[in-house]
Amino acid sequence: MLAGFRSLVRKATSLFGSDESSQLPLEIPRDEHTFSRKNVSPNALKVLYRLHEAGFDAYLVGGCIRDHLIGIEPKDFDVVTNATPEEAHDLFSNSRLIGRRFKLVHVTYGREIIEVSTFRANSAAQQSEAPAKANTSLKGKDTARSTHGILLRDNVYGSIEEDAERRDFTFNALYYNIADFSLHDYCGGLADIEQRQIRIIGDPRQRYQEDPVRMLRAIRFAAKLDFEIEAVTAAPIKEMAHLLDHIPPARLFEEVLKLLGSGNGVTTFKLLREYGLFKYLFPDLDALLDSGWQRKDIQPDAFVIQGLENTDARIREGKSTAPYFLYAILLWPSVTLRHEEFEQQGLPALPALHQAASMVLDNQVASTAIPRRFSTPMREIWDLQFRLPKRYGKRAFTLLQHPRFRAAYDFLLIRELSGTELGGLGQWWSEFQKAPENQQRALINKADARQGDSDTSKPKRRRPRRRKSNSKRSQE
Ligand code: ATP
Ligand code: MG
Repeated sequence: MLAGFRSLVRKATSLFGSDESSQLPLEIPRDEHTFSRKNVSPNALKVLYRLHEAGFDAYLVGGCIRDHLIGIEPKDFDVVTNATPEEAHDLFSNSRLIGRRFKLVHVTYGREIIEVSTFRANSAAQQSEAPAKANTSLKGKDTARSTHGILLRDNVYGSIEEDAERRDFTFNALYYNIADFSLHDYCGGLADIEQRQIRIIGDPRQRYQEDPVRMLRAIRFAAKLDFEIEAVTAAPIKEMAHLLDHIPPARLFEEVLKLLGSGNGVTTFKLLREYGLFKYLFPDLDALLDSGWQRKDIQPDAFVIQGLENTDARIREGKSTAPYFLYAILLWPSVTLRHEEFEQQGLPALPALHQAASMVLDNQVASTAIPRRFSTPMREIWDLQFRLPKRYGKRAFTLLQHPRFRAAYDFLLIRELSGTELGGLGQWWSEFQKAPENQQRALINKADARQGDSDTSKPKRRRPRRRKSNSKRSQE
């Protein structure tokens, strides 16, 4: 399939010359490219045909075409049209109008959502010359920028050429036309796929200023596709990384999940650090990694990488992953550092942990939001790290029933794999879960017997407090 695609690109570059190919639109007829309807979800096809039959232009765009041409299974299918969101919404009873920043339509088929957006004009160009360039059949102009030049809303509709220009990278501006099955390449995306490079459309500084998240997206695609970020695209990233401070924490939270929780976490983490972007997502962890801080029971760098590797492996194996687990990993090094500080101030272990957790979470939400439905299980996982060593009596059985046991156990294994010495605790829990009940008791006794290991032993019996004498009490 890729061979066919290669010959297609050769044709394209020989037609226009490699430099000019980025400026000239290229329409490739159906029999000269390898993207076909067979590669498209039936629901996306339904949406495309319905729009087409109603007299609108309808194209597939973005990730689904890019991924297919590279040989990766597309994640979802995005449709773009000259119908306004309202017009598209009217065509589908199973659709919803969503978004403020970008108004669009979601058409729902069971668990699959087909996103339908309207051709948009690049709003920077729009401010000077849009009325002349814009597709006049489309109404609904609405654009807004923050004081930092960040695009807050972008609902100015335009032609397909304008729509291509306002997309982020050249390989994301490839369109598949349902009317004649041709592929449209307005920005040289095919040549860039051929060269395995990520190239931003237009002036990188201006494009990052408009939307700093594009810097994160460049890193995400570099890791996901194993592509190079082309030099001009990469050059301003370090210097402009600070613009991420102006992005709402809720949006950055979503980006972090895509960056670190999609199967390429380790590579993405390293690239984010290399490009100076990680600091704006996890400031505490970034500073801690820079400082080189470590303790006998935690090496932050090794631990984070082990945690991300575990998430990547789960995704490769088709297993589920939870955002709270990922966040529990990323914040644990800071939690252990703060925990030590609170203990030094005289707090007992568990209250010190709770204070540390609150402090770390409070700091983190200033950068990336963490919904409460995630922060509660994160605290539980951390809490259980202190409870899993205590297995005497009925405790081990009770812990097994804890709704967060499994996650806490996985977390424990990651700690051990990253070099934390826990006296075989992970192995003990692995055996305990598999063992029949009578052997479980033997395992508990074995743990109990290890008196030298304070974590596995019963708590020391407290000496009963001496009763205060009546005379003393009466003085109080
Ligand atoms: P994937 O879904 O596999 O992560 P994608 O390219 O489909 O990758 P989406 O976030 O689904 O990414 O976006 C769909 C398309 O919208 C992109 O291909 C791109 O053309 C455009 N796009 C998304 N985010 C931006 C942005 N911040 N700036 C400009 N264009 C964007
Ligand atoms: Mg997508």
